[in-house]
Amino acid sequence: MKNDDIFQIAVTDLTAEGEGIAHVDAFALFIKDAVPGDTVECRVMKLKKNYGWAKLLSVVTPSPDRIPADCPVARACGGCQIREMEYQAALQFKQRKIAEDLKRIGGFDAVTEEDEPSAASENAVLVRKTLGMQDPLRYRNKAQVPFGIGKDGRLLTGFYAGRTHDIVEADDCILMPEIFSDVVKAVKRHVQHYKIPVYREETHEGLIRHLLIRKGFSTGELMVTVVVNGDTLPFGEVLAFELKNLATKTGDTRFVSLSVNQNRSFGNAILGPVTKSIYGPAFIADELDGVRFLISPNSFYQVNPVMTEVLYKKALEFATLTGGETVWDLYCGIGTISLFLARRAKKVYGVEVVPQAVEDARRNAAENGFVNTEFFTGKAEEVLPAWREANPSEAVDVIVVDPPRKGCDPECLETMLRISPARIVYVSCDPATLSRDLKILCAGGYRIQAVQPVDMFPGTVHVETVVLIIRQ
Ligand code: SAH
Repeated sequence: MKNDDIFQIAVTDLTAEGEGIAHVDAFALFIKDAVPGDTVECRVMKLKKNYGWAKLLSVVTPSPDRIPADCPVARACGGCQIREMEYQAALQFKQRKIAEDLKRIGGFDAVTEEDEPSAASENAVLVRKTLGMQDPLRYRNKAQVPFGIGKDGRLLTGFYAGRTHDIVEADDCILMPEIFSDVVKAVKRHVQHYKIPVYREETHEGLIRHLLIRKGFSTGELMVTVVVNGDTLPFGEVLAFELKNLATKTGDTRFVSLSVNQNRSFGNAILGPVTKSIYGPAFIADELDGVRFLISPNSFYQVNPVMTEVLYKKALEFATLTGGETVWDLYCGIGTISLFLARRAKKVYGVEVVPQAVEDARRNAAENGFVNTEFFTGKAEEVLPAWREANPSEAVDVIVVDPPRKGCDPECLETMLRISPARIVYVSCDPATLSRDLKILCAGGYRIQAVQPVDMFPGTVHVETVVLIIRQ
């Protein structure tokens, strides 16, 4: 096999990144935008010893799971990896992906209900069916839109192509509310009208870097943050006026906040440390299952509110609280899971590394009338051991963790094992690091009781998992 060879080939599987996998003898080819079950024509692009990448030229026979893309930039944009895969098939793919990681990385005997019953050993871990959405479109409450300049000098907005900082131009995105597109257009007009220079990554010159839009789905509140390589946004009050008019026209949205975030860094972090209000407070409110949350631009907040409720309710169910428990919520963000837990626990401690998020968490607890929560600013792997040292005999019944993709720090896992709660609920957005951490926790005396995938990110390969492990 060599570069530029053309094959007609059957696609049999999908990588974790969403590329189709096809085999030529023992050689694996990864083909972006191919769906398992397709027969495709493809051209070899890049080869390694036992595998390589090929470009999809045409679909010769479509898979029964293939659907027409419902977005004009589905293949160019890095946002969705499986836009052309039927939704039920995508849910199954996510379930299998978790089972495979639990096997390969965690060393567990993970099965799905489709596996032969005889395959299930006594120690088998069942990965449940993925909980999916009724309507898997326009579910996101947040957009991060890069601003750039095209080759012809034109102002560009859209989304990054996969693994690059090339902007794929797009006016609308079917994962986001329609009003977001109107906001992008309004900011674009503002930038053009006042000839505000757009930031260039290569030279670190220019002002406008990104646009961050957030909407509280249950309150209708809209927050717009312009990320600038500088101090402020020229004529910001004019833009605020425009945005107010625009939101009024749409009915269900209320524009409440325009702010600038100052990001003078060279790196590719979207937000800088300082956010200043131009209009209204620099936060919006949203409500989840009757609990009200205030959210700052710099704070993490789950992007799919419909499935967030499903996820949190599952985490709460797994925690099986009766009102008398002491619970830790590690990586607590603005205290969302913490407050769900606090409704049924005696005491909830939260830990979060972003100071603004901790401030949000404390304010959210107070505004909802909770008196049984306490939040610490810092790294989970530092705060938890220090707390244990200062409080060696305080009993902890349940620990909930919801770390970023890189999973828990070894020091954090070790301290959890030392504290030894009856139950640990692990909420994860990355099955690979989840499997790695579960292996450590189970070697330390826990057993997996339930694994529940939740589809927070339809159209993409990403999946959220809630796992209950119990002390043996
Ligand atoms: N449970 C929250 C937040 C989950 S996202 C929710 O559902 O909304 C993960 C959070 O962990 C982010 O808020 C991030 O700022 C925080 N974080 C990242 N590394 C951390 C660490 N080492 N210690 C504590 N918090 C951390």
